[in-house]
Amino acid sequence: MRAVHRFTVLAHLPEPLRALGTLATNLRWSWHPPTQDLFAAVDPELWSATGGDPLRLLNEVPADRLRVLAEDEDFLARTRAVDDDLRRYLAVPRWYQQRQDEGAELPGSVAYFSMEFGLTEALPNYSGGLGVLAGDHLKSASDLGVPMIGVGLLYRSGYFRQSLSAEGWQVEHYPVLDPRGLALETVTGPSGQALLVRVAMPEGRTLLARIWKAQVGRVPLLLLDSDLPGNDDDLRGTTDRLYGGDADHRVRQEILAGIGGMRAVRAYCELTGHPQPEVFHTNEGHAGFLGLERVRELQDEQDLQFDPAVAAVRAGMVFTTHTPVPAGIDRFPVDLVRHYFGDGSQQSLLPGVPTDRVLALGAEDNPGMFNMAHMGLRLAQRANGVSELHGKVIRKMFSGLWPGFGTEEIPISSVTNGVHGPTWSARELGKLLGESEMDSGAGLRGMEPVSDALLWELRCSLRQRLVEHVRRRLREAWLQRGASDLELGWCDSVFDPEVLTIGFARRVPTYKRATLMLRDTDRLRQLLLDSQRPVQIVVAGKSHPADEGGKAMIQKIVKFADRADVRHRLVFLPDYDMSMARYLVSGCDVWLNNPVRPLEACGTSGMKAALNGALNLSVRDGWWDEMFDGHNGWAIPNADGVTDPNRRDDLESAALYELITEHVAPAFYERNTDGVPGKWMSMVRHTLATLGPRVHSSRMVRDYVDNHYGPAACSVRGVSADGYRGAKELADYRARLHAAWSRVRVDSTEMSVDEHGPLLGSRVTVRAEVELAGLDPSDVDVEVVVGRVDDSDELYDFVAESMAASGDGRYQAEVTLPHAGPAGYTVRVLPQHRSLSGPAELGRVVLAS
Ligand SMILES: *Cc1c(COP(=O)(O)O)cnc(C)c1O
Repeated sequence: MRAVHRFTVLAHLPEPLRALGTLATNLRWSWHPPTQDLFAAVDPELWSATGGDPLRLLNEVPADRLRVLAEDEDFLARTRAVDDDLRRYLAVPRWYQQRQDEGAELPGSVAYFSMEFGLTEALPNYSGGLGVLAGDHLKSASDLGVPMIGVGLLYRSGYFRQSLSAEGWQVEHYPVLDPRGLALETVTGPSGQALLVRVAMPEGRTLLARIWKAQVGRVPLLLLDSDLPGNDDDLRGTTDRLYGGDADHRVRQEILAGIGGMRAVRAYCELTGHPQPEVFHTNEGHAGFLGLERVRELQDEQDLQFDPAVAAVRAGMVFTTHTPVPAGIDRFPVDLVRHYFGDGSQQSLLPGVPTDRVLALGAEDNPGMFNMAHMGLRLAQRANGVSELHGKVIRKMFSGLWPGFGTEEIPISSVTNGVHGPTWSARELGKLLGESEMDSGAGLRGMEPVSDALLWELRCSLRQRLVEHVRRRLREAWLQRGASDLELGWCDSVFDPEVLTIGFARRVPTYKRATLMLRDTDRLRQLLLDSQRPVQIVVAGKSHPADEGGKAMIQKIVKFADRADVRHRLVFLPDYDMSMARYLVSGCDVWLNNPVRPLEACGTSGMKAALNGALNLSVRDGWWDEMFDGHNGWAIPNADGVTDPNRRDDLESAALYELITEHVAPAFYERNTDGVPGKWMSMVRHTLATLGPRVHSSRMVRDYVDNHYGPAACSVRGVSADGYRGAKELADYRARLHAAWSRVRVDSTEMSVDEHGPLLGSRVTVRAEVELAGLDPSDVDVEVVVGRVDDSDELYDFVAESMAASGDGRYQAEVTLPHAGPAGYTVRVLPQHRSLSGPAELGRVVLAS
């Protein structure tokens, strides 16, 4: 019999236990061990049966047990203590407030938009790294006291759950989540009715969404949900799945996340008195339509024209991109976008916002496509990649938007990702090292007194716990594949708690090369079965449902792991999620990563492993390129420049086998007289001490505050003061520039050198005549650029200096020659305005020809 409706009955807590309800619904429990211990004490068996989910625990615990606890003075005292601790956590001033007291100009609040949020396995609303990063961002913002609101969608089936067929093929399940059983509350209006967000759809329809709120420590997270009877079936399914549909489904999700999300933020702040955000951060470009909704607001409420409105919006937008390749960019057919935006009339998606201007913001080389990343860059004054290497790669990738500039001048910076320490480091380790939420990321103080022997013992117990987890999950996986319990006795002896353990777990797109280790299966078999120095490998990861290649890779691994001779040393565990990730990153000795460089924008699982004292064994890509120092792990040599992918994989896999055989395994198995691997532990210690503070997401959030949010708040105040005078001036300036620019010219240039010729370090004078085409000299900066030249006369390693105007378009500067050898110079004209973040911002430059 199938239920016609599903609903969840919420436990009624006895009065003395009411605080448990608050503690269960603020997700801070997910990174606060004392709160977890309190819930475990309610009913230890049920706690582990629910996978450590406080809300499910409270819903399932027998009423009798609650009555007993309500009279247990010890338990009540403990509950009060934990509750007081949460109140303090929510109220006391933190790092952000300290920065404000020191006089830093910071936004009153920041809205953070993302299509997925991975906060805890108890709220499965993420697919992988991007979502977990967003979750860690909110948690660190909370720890640091950053006034932030998260915004996203709530998916009825989240991402899929993975199992395997008997043949090792990935099978997807989409269990339906009931939001009422999750740590969410409906945002309601003054009279108690659910607050609804409305977004106009074509043909006069309206998409309705309700708002769920998850509380992440101090940070509210608003999640929009279209599953309402007021929507017709087709619109109702908008938030059914994460990354599940076609372009039409996806653009609708992104319209809801951006435009609906913006409306949800406005309504929530109005209702609760939460300060309205000044700065808007988009985690990837998916929610980028939010910028257009803000344009509409400014047109309607401040009576601005489109251009000044865009200028005002840009000032407060921060755009983070995670994609290192053009193929990864989110794009839609232009006609589809036009279909949704309509004609700008009163009934359309954004009344009064001209659709042709919208389409121009997403323009790219292909006139038929609308490019979300290009719109992101055009609507944000500040943009960044997620590691230093990724920054370099995307400055080149997007250089077409800034023609005429050197790649290092492209105004896209980088903020290296991080991971939330209290979420990802094993609690035993935090305790041993004296780390707490308040000083997390401040470095592992108090570590010196911990002996190698004690630290090793801890590492061994974490490995032991992983081995037990592997055995349990492997047995479950085989039962699902159709095996019977009787034939699964061998599962109890897979893995050995004494053996060097390597982990590899992540999504399975082709570039991550999950099967690189299988390149030479004989060689791999030798490594696994070595009589002196064996290794064991645990692999996990989901493939996107539409990616047959990824599923074939999983099958290849599973088939190998099924072989009777190696199955005790290599396992594939289905259904990778945050819970499994915690076992893996804390229990593995070595964390393996072998993407095709430079396709891993950052990668974060290796950071989680490092926080637990695991050593990274990775291609120098993403974060590892900037943080590998020769003592904190190993760099797999990469065959840069080899274009044949087969040969590259041969070379890199051979290098991987050799590294493990010659370096990794010997270091692990070389023991002191007390059985402790001395060299290994010195690397572990070095990793904990030096990587700990750098990979922590509190470092990342502080970087965003200091380098992006703070400066953006200043820009916003600059353009919005005095009835948006700055925005109007900037728009006027841009229009003036636009009208004149094609006629601006550098007419002549000359360099005068003294009789000794150009010498390194000598001063030379450069003169130029410039046609300003009616612009005022103060509208532009004229620069001389001097540097090295390559064979085709391209300048590189250059320095640029402003030239002084001496009237009549004449300019002059004295420069010092910076390099010996082939050199060159040119003169260029750049826009100059106090509201621009830099000379390259508008992508306009006139070069001497
Ligand atoms: C950390 C994490 C990821 C991201 O791993 P990468 O190394 O960036 O690929 C993906 N999935 C889960 C469940 C994670 O916890």
